[in-house]
Amino acid sequence: MRLSKAFQPTLKEVPSEAQIASHRLMLRAGLIRQTSSGIYAWLPAGLRVLRNIENIVREEQDAIGAQELLMPTLQSAELWKRSGRYDAYGPEMLRIQDRHGRDLLYGPTNEEMITDIFGAAIKSYKDLPKALYHIQWKFRDEVRPRFGVMRGREFLMKDAYSFDVSYEDAVASYRRMMLSYLRIFQRLGVRAVPMVADTGPIGGDLSHEFLVLAPTGESGVFFDSALEEQDWLSRPVDCDDHASLEEFFQTVTGHYAATDEKHDEAAWAEVPETRRREGRGIEVGHIFYFGTKYTASMGVEVVGPDGAKLAPHMGSYGVGVSRLMGAIIEASHDEGGIIWPDSVAPYRAAILNLRPGDEACDRLCAEIYERDSSNLMYDDRDERAGVKFNDADLMGHPWQVVVGPRGAKNGLVELKRRATGERVEVTVEDALKRIGIV
Ligand code: ATP
Ligand code: MG
Repeated sequence: MRLSKAFQPTLKEVPSEAQIASHRLMLRAGLIRQTSSGIYAWLPAGLRVLRNIENIVREEQDAIGAQELLMPTLQSAELWKRSGRYDAYGPEMLRIQDRHGRDLLYGPTNEEMITDIFGAAIKSYKDLPKALYHIQWKFRDEVRPRFGVMRGREFLMKDAYSFDVSYEDAVASYRRMMLSYLRIFQRLGVRAVPMVADTGPIGGDLSHEFLVLAPTGESGVFFDSALEEQDWLSRPVDCDDHASLEEFFQTVTGHYAATDEKHDEAAWAEVPETRRREGRGIEVGHIFYFGTKYTASMGVEVVGPDGAKLAPHMGSYGVGVSRLMGAIIEASHDEGGIIWPDSVAPYRAAILNLRPGDEACDRLCAEIYERDSSNLMYDDRDERAGVKFNDADLMGHPWQVVVGPRGAKNGLVELKRRATGERVEVTVEDALKRIGIV
């Protein structure tokens, strides 16, 4: 994309309504615009990041055998009356009537709908397990929408649902999801620590929230730093083997990690002092086992191995896709702007033409740009160098390829790594290789 043609309306002024860095930077870099309280339009560069996050979530969910489908945003109130949640949900649910006076709602989550879809199709234990997910907009009429996309009213969530014959199988499904989540967050370039969460009346230890560490997080967090050092992507786990999943799960849960709500001073005291980490965190994911709560209340059964009917065990697993964009920025920015991890950046690199009109500069920039024009942002505007440097820093491209008249004559560019500020003078080929374009 050529910046002179792009729709990326950056702001010079710091928007006064934005209280935290990610919100300010998303507005300033031209990624989002608020259209009503807690509701945002995603501008082109913001949408590219959102899609990148979504694709990583999708790949890692597919990798553990979950299947994607897409359920609608509007749901019938009837479904929610069957589970008993229609009256219980409260004012966060946006209730709507159609022209025939039928009650609808804008889905805040999808347990009822997926249970209904599953129940109508699956009749035998032989078809289990199943894990289904979708990536869809949700609406929750939050009392206090704030911090931009972090607590919106309309937001994008990946929600998955697992169906199993037995508790043991459901536990395996839960552990697979935990692994998938750890891999997702690692690929997104953020450290998200799983912490025990409330299970409510279900009990047990099968509810975890994943928290990205950032000073502006809403929860206080306490955890053992050994958890941060794990490499979940390279760790071999056989997802079809209960023992292998168990071993993985023990590694995670064997290390202390809790939000302030669940913090236990006695257990904390046992963590070696040098490994104790305290801070604040943003909830970006939540996994939950809830047994037969929905299948039983909605009358969904399958025929079991002994011929008797049974209600499948379920779990639900959410990732806040749009919130993640804010969380990534909270965890990765400086005074100059955003520092995108390579995996989610809207463009792999920016090309900064410091002297548009200079023949050598124009030629070299065009040569680089054409190598991968859909993944490069070419700042070809007729602006001062300082403006270009500031905008590239603000937008957070992982690399900047700086093309000035002196180097251009000799086919050389200056390559800057946004995260470290390190600059090197290299040939075009070398620059492209380092950026990952071959
Ligand atoms: P919170 O405690 O932050 O209100 P929640 O526990 O109600 O979230 P879940 O029902 O667990 O949320 O939803 C799954 C994920 O969806 C959360 O972990 C979070 O990342 C995201 N999410 C929830 N509410 C919002 C919101 N209002 N705006 C953006 N993302 C949200
Ligand atoms: Mg939650």
